[in-house]
Amino acid sequence: PSREEVAYFGAGPAPLPTPVLEEGARAFVNFEDSGLSLAEISHRSPTANKILANTKTALVSLLDIPDNYEILFMHGGGSGEFSAVVYNMVAVWVEKRRRLAENELGSDEEKILERVRSDIRESLRLDYIVTGSWSLKASQEAATLLEPLKNGGKAKNFVNIVTDAREWNEGKFGKIPHEDMWKMTSPEGSAFAYYCDNETVDGVEFPSFPKCLVSKDDEDDRLVVADMSSNFLSRRVDVSKYAVIYGGAQKNIGITDVTLVIVRKDILATIPSPSFLHAVGVWSPPAILNWSVIAKNNSLYNTMPIFSIWIAGQVMRSLLSTHGDAKVSGQEAVANAKAKIIYRILDENPSVYQIVPHKDVRSRMNICFRAGDAATEKGFLEGAESRMLQGLKGHRSVGGIRISNYNAVSMANLQKLAEYLKDFAQRKR
Ligand code: PLP
Repeated sequence: PSREEVAYFGAGPAPLPTPVLEEGARAFVNFEDSGLSLAEISHRSPTANKILANTKTALVSLLDIPDNYEILFMHGGGSGEFSAVVYNMVAVWVEKRRRLAENELGSDEEKILERVRSDIRESLRLDYIVTGSWSLKASQEAATLLEPLKNGGKAKNFVNIVTDAREWNEGKFGKIPHEDMWKMTSPEGSAFAYYCDNETVDGVEFPSFPKCLVSKDDEDDRLVVADMSSNFLSRRVDVSKYAVIYGGAQKNIGITDVTLVIVRKDILATIPSPSFLHAVGVWSPPAILNWSVIAKNNSLYNTMPIFSIWIAGQVMRSLLSTHGDAKVSGQEAVANAKAKIIYRILDENPSVYQIVPHKDVRSRMNICFRAGDAATEKGFLEGAESRMLQGLKGHRSVGGIRISNYNAVSMANLQKLAEYLKDFAQRKR
């Protein structure tokens, strides 16, 4: 079949705008009549530098990113950032404790080291808000990485599960527990508070920034880290509320191989040297995951996938040209409208379709539902395939059906799917 005949709703890798792919196909062979493929040029060439700069500019413009933030392009995907967050943010916490100890104890190095070591044992906490499979995985990675710091079990658990949504929803994800029930660490103790803005597997999206994470004043600087891998560029985000935002590119941004990180510059400046970290028994972030190293090298610490970065830039530029001054808010309106069409049909046919998440946290990007027993769901998927509606199978860990409504899913393709949902429901009712 041709691209026009297939309507693809994959969760990641995900659909891309056809014009970007067509231009990409040309750039892959002969970039701007240079005689070279974008996959062949040096990541240190002026062309590569220009591509990096242009992609950053487009992102700054789309999201109105303030000057005190740096944009990094990294390897390792969202999963790499699960680790990077722990390595970097713990290093920042430790450095802040060193500064406090220095203020109090003066220049006695040994006393300072002893104080910081004891602070780590007694008060280091990483707050994880677990609302789905990806935040769960991130919290588990944190616990694994921090285990050696426990010093043979003498320290308490460093990872604080602020809330585990399954405990409030019969053992399954699908809800965001009320913030009154969250068990947050105080901002001084907490190295950061972490959440996943859109849970791709479970179809749960935060409707807005969690209230209890808002810093009350300058003294109370709660560092908020958010995984936006699967809803990046689908709605307006007040970047200034975050210490770090990251996302793998392979859903709303472009193709796989590159991870975007938006990080506050003062965080970068607080990542200490390996020697100090080692002196207090903490690992130094591996260079490839060290945000400060990546920033100092303008994201060219090692060989970067320039082709993937260029694709991301093209996607961003096409959003900017489509939505003009509305920027990402324009895309937000489109994403909301598309999601509404699907949820409406599902809501109208409750005997056929059972939506997984609670109504107030339904994801606009990953619409997860059940369609009866296993045989009926199989029939649903086969019927969809026969109409060239592809990529609808739920994640292997949870089953069911998942419609991924990313930015590149056109209204025309979404309407085809809507028709199928209606026809299927009519037959099953
Ligand atoms: N975070 C979220 C929300 C995801 O959806 C995914 C992957 O689908 C990941 C993290 C992991 O990303 P990666 O496969 O790039 O490591």
